[in-house]
Amino acid sequence: MGKVRRKIQIRKNLVLKTLLNEKIQSLTELKNHTGISLPVLTNIIKQLKKENLVVQVKEKETIGAGRPPQVFKLNRKGGYIIGIDIGRTFTNFLLLDLEFNIVEERRKSTYSLDDPGVFLEEIFSEVKSIVTAAKLSWSQILGIGVAIPGIVRGQEGISETYLKFKNHSVRDAFTKKFKKPVHIEHDAKAMALGELWMGKAKGCQNVLCLNLGWGVGLGIIVDGKIYYGKDGFAGEFGHIQVVPDGDLCYCGKFGCLETVASGKALTRIAKNKLLNGQKSILNKEKDFDINKLDARSILEAANKGDQFSIELLETTGKYLGLGIGYLINLFNPEKIILGGGITVANPYLLDSIISTAMKQSLTHINKDVQFELSTLGFRAGAIGVAMLAVRDLFEVDHLNPTAYV
Ligand SMILES: [Zn+2]
Repeated sequence: MGKVRRKIQIRKNLVLKTLLNEKIQSLTELKNHTGISLPVLTNIIKQLKKENLVVQVKEKETIGAGRPPQVFKLNRKGGYIIGIDIGRTFTNFLLLDLEFNIVEERRKSTYSLDDPGVFLEEIFSEVKSIVTAAKLSWSQILGIGVAIPGIVRGQEGISETYLKFKNHSVRDAFTKKFKKPVHIEHDAKAMALGELWMGKAKGCQNVLCLNLGWGVGLGIIVDGKIYYGKDGFAGEFGHIQVVPDGDLCYCGKFGCLETVASGKALTRIAKNKLLNGQKSILNKEKDFDINKLDARSILEAANKGDQFSIELLETTGKYLGLGIGYLINLFNPEKIILGGGITVANPYLLDSIISTAMKQSLTHINKDVQFELSTLGFRAGAIGVAMLAVRDLFEVDHLNPTAYV
């Protein structure tokens, strides 16, 4: 990119980034945010309007006399972003406009993660079908965000546990296939970003986001930012030991939280007990198939009053609460957001989590902590990673801005 073009691109991105973060802005506000002079800014806005990325807002009027200021925002239909949150049981796809309205959405059982090549083909055809269903052309898609479980180095686009391609990082493989910019993020961190961006963590500084699904994920927000740790792996909450000499976890350790308090554990424990003669409304039905038993059916049975399922959920809640109690002591959060594939709205599970967490943490630290259920639910991860994809597009750091602005 030539010097002049790069300078223009930096200025455009500064404006786009500001509009993404601040929603609507007058020319003066944009000038203050970006440091670009008014005449130059007017020109940049003109170009961005031509490119369909920015529109003028009509409705905002000034108070008092004088001409109303020109107010601008991102053009909602100027481009679209795809967020894909790959879970170990379900994958969520969201097609979003530039105001983060959901245009198209799908939730599908996750294809086998064992063969990355086949998996990528499946994801690609699903995404193509979503774009077609939304009556959009491929050229209108600006970028793609992909959230992945396991050990993930998002900044470098590398996944250490799943989707390990032979000669490429997962980001390179996806970029090559989609021919679009791709951002990779760890699933629990993507969820926390979604909550911070437009969920229950919005405007908060210190929040813990629990992602309860097949496993137990944690996204940590410290001082208004996602906490990554040195290598980006911070938050492996599912692998703290809560049962000394407990069951072997897939990570190689014994008694991890995930072995007793995840969707996977709940199903496994219930199956074992039912096979050993446990009575429950779960196996009372004639057409009961133990292979189809999952966390959802246990939650449903508990809601119908099934004592066995209620006790299972209470135990799960106790282990989660124990872990969360440790977290409260360590992080002194203002909020704990519970989300993910397992709906914790179930009172037996929720009460058990909260009462144990409060019992296990220091009164001084837990006195104001709020427990909240995620309103974004299983969409939080796809929203968070889509937001990262847009931020990448409007990023200026890689253009070496100090040399030109
Ligand atoms: Zn483990």
